[in-house]
Amino acid sequence: MAILIVDDDSHLGKLLGLRLQVDGYETISAHTADQALEYLGIGSESPRINIDLVILDIFLPDLSGIEMCRKIKEDPDTCDIPVIMITGSSDEEHLREAFEAGAMDYIEKPFKGVEVIARIRSALKLKREIEQRKRQTQKLMEATKELQEANNRLRLMSFQDALTGLHNRRYFDEFLDKEFARAKRNRTPIAMIMIDIDYFKPYNDYFGHQAGDDCLKQIASAFAKVIHRSHDLVARYGGEEFAVVLPETGKEGALAVAEALRQSVLDLQIEHPASPFGIVTISEGVAAPIPELEDTAKLLIKAADAAMYQSKTSGRNRITAVE
Ligand code: GH3
Ligand code: MG
Ligand code: MG
Repeated sequence: MAILIVDDDSHLGKLLGLRLQVDGYETISAHTADQALEYLGIGSESPRINIDLVILDIFLPDLSGIEMCRKIKEDPDTCDIPVIMITGSSDEEHLREAFEAGAMDYIEKPFKGVEVIARIRSALKLKREIEQRKRQTQKLMEATKELQEANNRLRLMSFQDALTGLHNRRYFDEFLDKEFARAKRNRTPIAMIMIDIDYFKPYNDYFGHQAGDDCLKQIASAFAKVIHRSHDLVARYGGEEFAVVLPETGKEGALAVAEALRQSVLDLQIEHPASPFGIVTISEGVAAPIPELEDTAKLLIKAADAAMYQSKTSGRNRITAVE
């Protein structure tokens, strides 16, 4: 804890310094503003000395004490250091200016030792409190930022399927509701494709669950490559079921996308000895209505699902569209 005494009257400065040292304070003396600014590291390259309080004569030879006080308060590195002015009894107008410049208190010449110590003590106490509050605020800001980041991560996670990295059912439901409402408002078609992997239970039974998971991941990334328009969505709907939403897309467009999805799985050529096709395949159901006012998103899902089951019963590895 160091106190900088800036006073051109070296005798007075020395006396004050001695009085403070008796009370255990470390003091540094400067006889000119330039020297004091250097100690404070204001406008100079030399490393600053750690100063907790400045006692500043209102009259200095090279710069007024008021101007010096202003400089201390303007520098973000020193603005929290309390400044106490030393004044004579007739300096009221100057004192007013000093307070405007940011001084927090004043000591009148000639000094009364007890008074000086009391003022210094309260100034230092205030500084400690300000610093403590700053540290607390800083900590609070850091904690808030971390919390925000964690919340963002959680939010993203809550919409993502952990195995495949695709959007999950929860996100799908929200997305479909929103897009379905928009389609209704705008009287535009909205397409949904329901997809289910064929003979996936036998695949798991044959190769094991881990291989089943790998297969799901491969298919998911193949789908993600096909569904690349920013306003389309592919999601993992359930275990081995996927769902695609194509806003503003009619039956023909949806059938083309469904065919691209089916082909993307065939292209993977995932060996499947327990399937009559010898490789992993998918069955799909397509619905692409212009929704009527009384229609619901649930109805669209139901229709796409029914079409998908029709693909299953009519041989699998195919696409059925709702008429
Ligand atoms: P179908 O051709 O009629 O669709 O027959 P399927 O065997 O694919 O249909 P079924 O619904 O009987 O079986 C789905 C299987 O998908 C059952 C389950 O073990 C498997 N499955 C669901 N989710 C996962 C998963 O996350 N990982 C793995 N490895 N398998 C899964
Ligand atoms: Mg299924
Ligand atoms: Mg299946």
